Amino acid sequence: MPELVLVHGDITEQQVDAVVNAANSGLLGGGGVDGAIHRRGGPEILAACRELRATDLRDGLPTGRAVATTAGKLPARWVIHTVGPVWSAREDRSALLASCYRESLRVADELGARTVAFPAISTGVYGWPIDDGARIAIETVRDAGTDVAEVRFVLFTPDAHDAFASRLRA
Ligand code: ADP
Repeated sequence: MPELVLVHGDITEQQVDAVVNAANSGLLGGGGVDGAIHRRGGPEILAACRELRATDLRDGLPTGRAVATTAGKLPARWVIHTVGPVWSAREDRSALLASCYRESLRVADELGARTVAFPAISTGVYGWPIDDGARIAIETVRDAGTDVAEVRFVLFTPDAHDAFASRLRA
């Protein structure tokens, strides 16, 4: 099991092998953490995403899947893009959110990444309640069976940090 580390801060500043992006299926950028990663990482990341859209991912990246690109100017080697589910009160989409964490770690293993930083996927614009998002993130990473040595959850807001901290203690 990887060591789990919590950081209150900005994922674009993390010196790790791979940074996970809460992208959208178009892979061409967006707001929130996606916007921050493209802004700080520079145009190389977008160029790599466009290339994927022109080849392997013509219909975009499906929800729950993950794919790697260069990290451009970020202090990391790779960005692993994953697409979280939009929160729904009517439908249980937890399996898709868990899949984001599992698939990102699978891609990290393929790359040989030993340190991976995750944001709290789906808990921003996609509306997932933070306590449940933290529970799924931590349970899934604990059970993932990965060679990654450190998983760093980088939480942007005090609420998100608190939610992850109390779940980690539980
Ligand atoms: P989603 O569409 O998956 O909800 P968002 O980017 O809107 O993605 O939000 C996901 C999480 O990332 C939220 O908890 C948000 O506060 C957080 N976030 C936003 N910017 C950053 C950043 N620079 N570093 C780390 N986390 C961030």
